[in-house]
Amino acid sequence: MNCPRHTDLVATLEHSRSGLRDSHRRSLMRVLFAVTGSALLPFAFLQMINGFWWVGASELAASTTLFYGMVRLRTTPHLQQWIYLYLVTLFSFFLVIMLLPEASVAAFVWVLMMPVLSYLLLGKHEGMILSVPFMLLGGVIYFIHLGNVGSASRMIDLLNLVLCGALMQWFIHLYEVKREEAEQRLVDMAQTDALTGLANRSSFQSTLGRTIAECERSGTGFALVVMDIDHFKLVNDTLGHDAGDHVLKHIAVSLNERLRGTDFVGRLGGEEFGLILRDVKPADAFELMDELRQRIASRTMSYGEADVRVTASFGIAQWPDHGREMETLFSIADRCLYSGKRSGRNRVAGADMANHAPARQGDLLAGSSR
Ligand code: GH3
Ligand code: MG
Ligand code: MG
Repeated sequence: MNCPRHTDLVATLEHSRSGLRDSHRRSLMRVLFAVTGSALLPFAFLQMINGFWWVGASELAASTTLFYGMVRLRTTPHLQQWIYLYLVTLFSFFLVIMLLPEASVAAFVWVLMMPVLSYLLLGKHEGMILSVPFMLLGGVIYFIHLGNVGSASRMIDLLNLVLCGALMQWFIHLYEVKREEAEQRLVDMAQTDALTGLANRSSFQSTLGRTIAECERSGTGFALVVMDIDHFKLVNDTLGHDAGDHVLKHIAVSLNERLRGTDFVGRLGGEEFGLILRDVKPADAFELMDELRQRIASRTMSYGEADVRVTASFGIAQWPDHGREMETLFSIADRCLYSGKRSGRNRVAGADMANHAPARQGDLLAGSSR
């Protein structure tokens, strides 16, 4: 079986907290550090010229720290902590600037930047948790800054910022919720076989890769099973393609019904299915698959007026006994499967587990209880 290299979609998503992948968040953070660090320099000098020495000096120190951070961000494993540190410092800085008695009203526009940056860098939940308190604080400071809000013009100033801020937060939250839903739908579609609803080949291979990595860590074993419906072409040829589809859906249900919660099943393509049986000994895997084989063979599927019965053949490879690599396991399971086919079909075949060597033609054990 050919196992092309593919992206592990699930793993990629697990590493993305917002709409951005980790590598993009890292790049964006570096750009933000560079931009903020550069932007602070003229402000620092202007503050000093204006006589605000301590503000100017703090801005200069912050600018230097940001350039240092920009270098560290290239490789740091603590990206999330850097993001929090940056956002909390930046938002606190906005609040301090607004608290200055001479603060310009224009300084309050930075409050609107808070949800944008928080959601972009932290995603829906953490973005909301960080931005809401800071925005509320910004609103309070603005209220204090305006002083007498009894006059109509002050009230308009207040309402402008409060309404705009609230709408901004709401729209960004809504956008992020919808974006996450759409992304999840796309991921589901990309990982699911449309006909049977099982995991598709690419998703199965990702899961197999993860299972190998987990078993390497935990020291437990698993079995990879490749199952192929016998003489399936006959179903298509005699009853039509729709009947074939109907059978494939039924088989998918049978597989799901019988397997344990920790097992995994996918459609590898055509009338071929893959199964990962966690924590099973070779003899148990053989027994479990033989039970499944009998279940499929004894099942009558109705299609219109016709009663359809099919059988299936199974090839089993055991990890790590028959190989530690995905490709090796697939090729052994495939060889077992085709040995079972040659022996008459409706069979479960496993490589000889006694000698712990990769299966050769003569090592294959095939069994059937027809
Ligand atoms: P064997 O016992 O050797 O496996 O014989 P087989 O007839 O099952 O295998 P073969 O490879 O000759 O034929 C597989 C058939 O499966 C041919 C193809 O048209 C059919 N097939 C593949 N995908 C689908 C599908 O999605 N729906 C339907 N209805 N048929 C499909
Ligand atoms: Mg077949
Ligand atoms: Mg086939």
